[in-house]
Amino acid sequence: MDTASNNYVTQPEKFKVAPFPFFLCEYCQKISDTCYFCYNRPCNFIRKLQQFQLYNQPNGFTIDNVVYHCDNDYIYEENVDNKDRIYDPQITRCKIEDEFVNGKKTKKDHPGFCKYCTMYDENWDSNFYERNNSRYRGHMINTHGIHPNGAICKMPDTGYFCYKWVRNHWFETSGFFCPYPNCNAAFAIGEKGHGFHEYLRHWSKVHVKLEPQSIMLPTI
Ligand SMILES: [Zn+2]
Ligand SMILES: [Zn+2]
Ligand SMILES: [Zn+2]
Repeated sequence: MDTASNNYVTQPEKFKVAPFPFFLCEYCQKISDTCYFCYNRPCNFIRKLQQFQLYNQPNGFTIDNVVYHCDNDYIYEENVDNKDRIYDPQITRCKIEDEFVNGKKTKKDHPGFCKYCTMYDENWDSNFYERNNSRYRGHMINTHGIHPNGAICKMPDTGYFCYKWVRNHWFETSGFFCPYPNCNAAFAIGEKGHGFHEYLRHWSKVHVKLEPQSIMLPTI
């Protein structure tokens, strides 16, 4: 590890090109200049996958839980029709006070409470995502792998030990190949959150439109 980073101590703020890896063994496969998989080392992929799956279970919070923890400048609303819909929020809220921009009353947004994120001592208000822009949509896609059309991201079932060049050192993690047919894109599990963000972005760009649309359409 030190041999790789010591070369660059004079300019720690600059990201350097990945040096030739020192760890290569006969089971190592080059994925890119900044990513290698080693098929000879045990990896923590299954644990990461289980964490992701736990994280994506409905959190089960009721409107009473939410009202108790959140800002009371809002009216909280529950849409029981959305209970079984995987994408749409069941709990939303809107500001009690009207808001004005240049003297004109603005259309009230009804931000949605994410029904998957688990709240511990966190700020519950931050689990509401605005819907008159793309924040709710972006959160559901990039954090939970759930698309507005009702598609759910398919997760890989196998992973491998992975070395990834991150901020001037070889970071050890696990990696995997995209499980969609005829796609061999490789991903490393990142350091932040559940670590699958890069893959979820890839899924939403490349694969989501090919998925069957399982949304429950509103009956009007
Ligand atoms: Zn190796
Ligand atoms: Zn969430
Ligand atoms: Zn893919």
